Amino acid sequence: ASPPSRPHSSAIDRTSVHRLTSGQVVIDLQTAVKELVENALDAGATSIEVAFREHGTESLEVKDDGKGIDQSDWEGIALKHHTSKLSSFSDLASVSTLGFRGEALSSLCGVATLSMVTATAATAPMGTTLAFSHAGECVPAGKVARMKGTTVKVDRLFDALPVRRKELVKNAKREFGKALDLLQAYAVINSGVRIEVKNVTKGRVWLAKPTLHLKTTASTSLRTSFSHVFAPKSLPSLLDLDLSLNVATEKSVLKRVEGAADASTTVKVLGLISKPVNGHGRTASNRQFYYINGRPFQPSKIAKAVNEMYKQYNANQFPTIVADFQLSTDAYDVNVSPDKRTIFLHSEGNLITALKEQLARFFEPETGRFAMQAI
Ligand code: ADP
Ligand code: MG
Repeated sequence: ASPPSRPHSSAIDRTSVHRLTSGQVVIDLQTAVKELVENALDAGATSIEVAFREHGTESLEVKDDGKGIDQSDWEGIALKHHTSKLSSFSDLASVSTLGFRGEALSSLCGVATLSMVTATAATAPMGTTLAFSHAGECVPAGKVARMKGTTVKVDRLFDALPVRRKELVKNAKREFGKALDLLQAYAVINSGVRIEVKNVTKGRVWLAKPTLHLKTTASTSLRTSFSHVFAPKSLPSLLDLDLSLNVATEKSVLKRVEGAADASTTVKVLGLISKPVNGHGRTASNRQFYYINGRPFQPSKIAKAVNEMYKQYNANQFPTIVADFQLSTDAYDVNVSPDKRTIFLHSEGNLITALKEQLARFFEPETGRFAMQAI
């Protein structure tokens, strides 16, 4: 049989386009969680509770005590490119919030069912329930008691994308694990924020008990939040990492032509690292957390350089490391892919060279920090 004839060519209808592009922003459970947690952090939350049902396949809820959403913003909030964080392209170089594309809520509406409860300081203890259509239109659905903050709920993720839904359900535990890894990364770096993560699965009993997967209390140091995330007993002694890298920037090539002085930028690296001696590292490289200005990222080249460096002192193990690269907002670009997962780092090669130099000095038994602290 011949395939059914189709019209020559036509534009895809808007609903389908929205569904297609939404699937590029929210690519998996981990990105859904990430977007909601970033919104909570951007709203100034000091407490974030994440509740999964059936490992996130039934629902996912993120509750914060942030500033809430003003009534004047309800209508546009889940429409594409509506954001309160960025208004023009030039702002992008200085973006300091985690979100800026105004796409997450709109995309979540496209691939799942989104609802919210929100209250601001002005309305608390009264909040409003907001329901959203798949196109992102908001329907206020009633008043409820709610302290200042926002709860965002995503029901049946990827219901609108059957193939992806099937994959998600099939790999629910693995996908949940990935989401949990990312939540750990946020919990470590956001010391001042209390984070709690629970999951409920229907067992044989009808009233399932939630399992607590992560719980931190607000603290003032990275060291404390790290020990909340991982059982202190399982932690090796960690050194404070505090490096100052002088990184030659690629702009310096241009500047030289103009006769100006070489451009370089200072990059601070703050965090923790295990001692470079046997027994302090790990056999797997799964306790390594890298950030750029507090934004978790996976720097494969940087991580490789650090691991190689560590191996010179401890041949069989990988370091436990938390490293936040603090650099000026124009030294990197987070706007590479819709899911903001890829971060383009200017002068990455030069940064790695400087990092290796500093780490060698840091690890040096004679002069390094490591020598000054008792092992
Ligand atoms: P972006 O974070 O890029 O601005 P989003 O689609 O994630 O885009 O969110 C759209 C807008 O909704 C945000 O700019 C913010 O004003 C508001 N918002 C979303 N989540 C929250 C929250 N938890 N608390 C307060 N405001 C929120
Ligand atoms: Mg956002």
